[in-house]
Amino acid sequence: MRAGHRTITGTLVIATHNPGKLREMRELLARYRIDAVSAGELGLAEPEETGTSFAANARIKAQAAARAAGRPAFADDSGLAVAALNGEPGIHSARWAGVDKNFMRAMQQIENRLQERGARDPAQRRAHFVSALCVAWPDGHCEEFEGRIDGTLVWPPRGEKGFGYDPMFLPDGHARTFGEMTSDKKHGLPPRGQGLSHRARAFLKLAEACLVR
Ligand code: IMP
Repeated sequence: MRAGHRTITGTLVIATHNPGKLREMRELLARYRIDAVSAGELGLAEPEETGTSFAANARIKAQAAARAAGRPAFADDSGLAVAALNGEPGIHSARWAGVDKNFMRAMQQIENRLQERGARDPAQRRAHFVSALCVAWPDGHCEEFEGRIDGTLVWPPRGEKGFGYDPMFLPDGHARTFGEMTSDKKHGLPPRGQGLSHRARAFLKLAEACLVR
């Protein structure tokens, strides 16, 4: 906990209707003795993500849930930004996979665009994942954190682990893509893991500022 930040105590609303995200957050928060209840469990509506940045969309979701529930609420927004594509798919990362959530097609779309631009060398295939986290209180106060991991995009995709764009993303300094890494290696926090992923990096910043062991 750091001066100038507000401490999170009691029950936190997790502003997600995604059971995977809820499970991950419950695990992360358990060691800080914070209970988590999801927006889905409380029957809260999902606001429209009208922001133009990851941070803005995380704030929209956290503030809507905090207002509706009358309790502090947490939200995240994340995605993959490809340098040669001016940061796309960015905040539209989930959308590129379509309603059927076909990430093989979304990865192929990225690859096609990189090929159109003649991007074959790793230096031309730079990308980063971003995770924006926001905790909002009913009085409007917000705490915001961002984590990022840089790497290059490989083709063909490698590995069956993880989700989304993981099989295409090779983090700098590593020989395995996120799709080839165990979840502990990718997301694990110290002392078990290195806090490698964008989400782990953002969460570590949040924990240091707003959580008490
Ligand atoms: P969100 O639920 O709006 O944050 O959607 C983020 C989207 O970005 C996901 O559907 C994935 O496509 C992508 N994404 C975010 N984080 C990761 C990751 O760690 N690995 C792979 N894809 C990710």
